Amino acid sequence: MGEMLSAARTRMHRAAEHADVADELVARLDYPSETLSASIPLRRDDGTLLQLKAWRCRYDSTLGPTKGGIRFHPDVDADEVQTLAFLMSMKCALMALPFGGGKGGVQVDAHDLSLMEKERLARGWVRHFARILGPDRDVPAPDVATGEREMAWMVDEYAAMAGSIQPGAFTGKPVSLGGIAGRTPATGRGAMIALEAVRHKLDLPPGDLRIAIQGFGNAGSWFARAASDAGHRIVAVSDSSGMISHDDGLAIDALLKAKAADGSVTDLDQKGAKSRKSGAHILSHDCDVLAFAALGGVVTADNASDLKAKAILEIANGPIGPPADAPLRKAGIEVVPDILANAGGVTISHAEWVQNRGGLAWDEDRVNDYLRDQMEAAARRVTQMMDTHALDMRTAAYAAAMVPLCRAVSARGTCS
Ligand code: GLU
Repeated sequence: MGEMLSAARTRMHRAAEHADVADELVARLDYPSETLSASIPLRRDDGTLLQLKAWRCRYDSTLGPTKGGIRFHPDVDADEVQTLAFLMSMKCALMALPFGGGKGGVQVDAHDLSLMEKERLARGWVRHFARILGPDRDVPAPDVATGEREMAWMVDEYAAMAGSIQPGAFTGKPVSLGGIAGRTPATGRGAMIALEAVRHKLDLPPGDLRIAIQGFGNAGSWFARAASDAGHRIVAVSDSSGMISHDDGLAIDALLKAKAADGSVTDLDQKGAKSRKSGAHILSHDCDVLAFAALGGVVTADNASDLKAKAILEIANGPIGPPADAPLRKAGIEVVPDILANAGGVTISHAEWVQNRGGLAWDEDRVNDYLRDQMEAAARRVTQMMDTHALDMRTAAYAAAMVPLCRAVSARGTCS
């Protein structure tokens, strides 16, 4: 058992104590049901051969086909993939989706690969894991450093192997290939809806909020747009090249332009904006809400006391390590947890999967209305759990996920 997974499960056990679910049912969710590893050969454009480590974990399929993204990142390993698949199980259950949790990854720096190399890798990934994939078995989606382009290559490779078009085998595809309108912005937009829906539980001042965002990729930048459209001020943004801040608020359109074409948020040319070479300062930036929209493991027990925000929004998966939970609770900083805050992505993935299976096509307004309804309903389940059992928001979210999940585990019987 990896260290990361074992730490992540402590949150489930803490919630189970409050959620009135039998220990033996929770024990079913202690360990992933299936993890496949592979060594994928990648022929580089210069003719050399790379051997890349890759994984796909199907954590638990009690509620339905396993669902979750595929990330390309140099730090990916089996423990991380299993932990993220565990998180997907909790997220899908909380959102009342008919999916279990899954996750995949390749240990590679995607920035080092050309377009053709990425395509060969995406197709190679599908060939290696095809035997556990499929619209009724395991349905991947984008994650860190993968997007609709990768999903297009993957669904094409899968169709070639299956001998028929299977659009429901992957979500997050381009609209031209059976994707759904509004899937790419869904994670960032959903995070804004979640924040508004639980705002009364956060100790925040009335009126517009001062928001800082770590990470300005897909989720972070769409969240920034949604937050600024709702009248809030984005006072600081960081990416891998540094940080930029302005107390009156950063100009989002200019920021998006600065970031486009492989630029950095620090390229923003705005009068009075302050730029720094290290993005790490964002942790201690004075703001109402600090949104984490980059990678996991950012806040630890050691740096938790640096945080000055009144509340945290986890748009990335796992930005706060479990050992930092207690110090943050002690400091009175409430966290809108990842399994709620970033669930807009998988929620619209589900709509895409339904669309593919029914041969339908929803327009973006309908997708956005559906996203709002689903996010608000899940936020209500979480805040009700907070009220009933006097819980912090993360524990309440896990409890709200575990009640239906454990009911389904129990209904399935125990003789398998
Ligand atoms: N990778 C996203 C997540 O972590 C989306 C998963 C999906 O759409 O299946 O939630």
